Amino acid sequence: MPGFFMDVQLDEQEREMKLESYAQGQVAVVTGGSAGIGLATAGLFLASGAAVAICGRDPERLAAAEDELRQRHPGAHLLGFCCDVLDGEAVEKFAQAVAARYGRIDILINNAGEGRSSTFSDTSDEAWRRELELKYFSIIRPVRAFLPWLKQSSSPSITCVSSLLAVQPEPHMVATSSARAGTLNLIKSLAAELAPFRIRVNAILVGIVESGQWRRRFRAQHEQPDWAEWSHGLALQKGIPWGRFGHPDEAARALYFLATSMSSYTTGSTVDVSGGLARHV
Ligand code: NDP
Repeated sequence: MPGFFMDVQLDEQEREMKLESYAQGQVAVVTGGSAGIGLATAGLFLASGAAVAICGRDPERLAAAEDELRQRHPGAHLLGFCCDVLDGEAVEKFAQAVAARYGRIDILINNAGEGRSSTFSDTSDEAWRRELELKYFSIIRPVRAFLPWLKQSSSPSITCVSSLLAVQPEPHMVATSSARAGTLNLIKSLAAELAPFRIRVNAILVGIVESGQWRRRFRAQHEQPDWAEWSHGLALQKGIPWGRFGHPDEAARALYFLATSMSSYTTGSTVDVSGGLARHV
């Protein structure tokens, strides 16, 4: 830790670095990298010259994601590992596998998860426990498992995919909103505790991003028009000033900014990816 708190002077070369080169040669782990925001993020890091490890629970979805990423990025350094981020032992094995393959781990993106739609009256104790467990332990378990490696990196970061619901709760997603708020608090504490190791800890606050979970909600509706019409209508109904859902790539770019040294002086912070849906100042 000596020297950590000294001023950082950016040299010319660093100023002129191309966007892509911020992740060149680094090893990025993306939990839930087999679909949606996680898949887009894995693709962005691969395109930037990083080695990438992804995990997911469904082996077929994971294999399909690996195939897609390898096709788009021939010669990519990519590791797929089937595991549930709530399973501590499995996440440990994931960390060991990444370290064994690449010898280092620089970037952890905690993305795995999904939201839960239910009001207070509809949410049982068991549902509360499941939601709180998912939101907290999808951060806690990977952080614990990857921390020893992140501590050895010269440019380490942990970036969490959170939700605008953390700061702008919706009554129809009461448990998710409440759990997300709590984990933003956890992220602040982690940022302070891990600062002496130069590990930055941040989050993005996602509004609505087109992804697997929204496609599933769309399919569950009956007599709906096509996806574009449905999603546009919903964006307007939700009051998204941008008038559309976000694209997974748009969330991925915000993650890239926070996870790489492009944001070298940013920790314990959030970036909003909500098309203007955030109402707070
Ligand atoms: P998708 O459903 O498209 O992708 C979720 C990914 O996470 C899949 O790869 C899924 O694979 C994996 N996953 C889910 N649960 C677990 C688990 N317990 N262990 C390991 N992998 C898991 O979702 P999104 O891209 O939309 O969501 C990504 C994150 O963004 C989530 O945390 C979500 O809550 C958050 N978010 C998304 C919003 C949106 O509008 N899309 C809004 C606010 C927050 P598998 O199922 O095979 O495990």
